Amino acid sequence: MSAREQWRDLVVASMERPPTPLGEFYAPKLETLTRDQLEALQGKKLVAAFRLLREASAFYRHKFDAAGLGEDSIQSVVDLAKIPLTHPSEWMADQERFPPFGRFSTISDEDWTTRGWMLFTTSGTKAAFPRAFRHTTFDRDQWTWHGARALHAMGVQHGDIALNAFGYGTSVACWGLHHALNELGVPVIPGGGASTDRRAELIHLFRPTVLLTTPSHALGLGQAMLAVGHDPRASSVRKLVLAGEPGASVPSTRLRLRDLWDAEVHDDFGCTEVAMSPLGYTCRTSATSAEAAPHLMEDQYLVEVLDPTTWEPVAEGDLGVLVVSNLFSEAQPILRYVMGDWLRITRERCPCGRTHARAPGGLQGRFDDVVKVKGLKFYPAVFEDVVRSVKGVLDEFRVVIESKGDLDRVKVTVEGTSEELAPVVRSRIAASLGIDVSVEVVAPGTYERKQGKTVRFSDSRPKKG
Ligand SMILES: [Zn+2]
Repeated sequence: MSAREQWRDLVVASMERPPTPLGEFYAPKLETLTRDQLEALQGKKLVAAFRLLREASAFYRHKFDAAGLGEDSIQSVVDLAKIPLTHPSEWMADQERFPPFGRFSTISDEDWTTRGWMLFTTSGTKAAFPRAFRHTTFDRDQWTWHGARALHAMGVQHGDIALNAFGYGTSVACWGLHHALNELGVPVIPGGGASTDRRAELIHLFRPTVLLTTPSHALGLGQAMLAVGHDPRASSVRKLVLAGEPGASVPSTRLRLRDLWDAEVHDDFGCTEVAMSPLGYTCRTSATSAEAAPHLMEDQYLVEVLDPTTWEPVAEGDLGVLVVSNLFSEAQPILRYVMGDWLRITRERCPCGRTHARAPGGLQGRFDDVVKVKGLKFYPAVFEDVVRSVKGVLDEFRVVIESKGDLDRVKVTVEGTSEELAPVVRSRIAASLGIDVSVEVVAPGTYERKQGKTVRFSDSRPKKG
């Protein structure tokens, strides 16, 4: 049997079908495994993925050879650290050298034409050209099952109607959630191409109970509805499933979303390269408690939290950079990918009964976006939390770090209707973050309300060589 066949058989055999009728958990055994059982399962899947990559990915074969890893070098999760990290820049270089797909994927041209499902790309904002990925129908089935588990944990169920406001283009989150909703028996209103006004109308007319979008757009859409006399609190929407940006687990953003919509706020995070279907997702216990702590789907992913200077694990509960190994994707069974977001994890048991680790506060921003000012580190999510905790400050703000002479200066611009907000924001930031900033209040509506990701931080200081 080829390594691919062995890998596929194992991935399929370890899927747990939902019980009938559906109870508290979609996959009761997998979601309540003990740590030892979980690690044994992860180990088996890791060994199979390692062998698959050796067989079918030229990129990884070279990488493993260079690290001196032979066919039997990886026997369990304990051996994970032997595998070299994969940095996003290596991927870009590989695809530029061998366009358009690179030698990364295990999908051949023949796989693509016989079993292909869809092509996805990254947004291409940082790379010279967007990276492209070919996924098979095997991948689609994994995303569907896996996404249904996460949505079920959020309380999305048969009887709900969903408005999926993610772009129906080449974005992975949109399609994975679409199929997962259908799997749960939930019909979907595709709101991807619609304008904000049109979406407000779709909600009014077709009464969806679940809205799937980015946190920024959930705020923008709610405000746009208010502006035309439709109170989102009085709308049919009872759950927000938010992805694409941190936000949903940032305390003050979460409160704003809850107040605006009178709805349960759920976080769903992953990334195009390594975590196409939910890596992190909030259960109902988490969504209704004071601090959001999304679960990590640990039977499908191996999660490491590392110090970005030494690339050694940080202590449990400390902030580090997220490194992820995918244990189920045929197109991208990528190992030890530096996803690059800051987060902290806890293995303390969630009251919901799931045993998988959780990430209190969710993602804290990308590690290359964290700015250092006067020796202090600023995490975008922490900044967002402080600014949005000030009553009267509207949802949009911008932070610019610039150098003035020898000094670094942080300029915060917030939307609001009163100049008196400026000293309040300034002192709140000083008290919470220990830094003096200048604050300017600008008129409501100064900043565009985007439907996709919103960039609020910019660092205009010259790069240090
Ligand atoms: Zn939970």
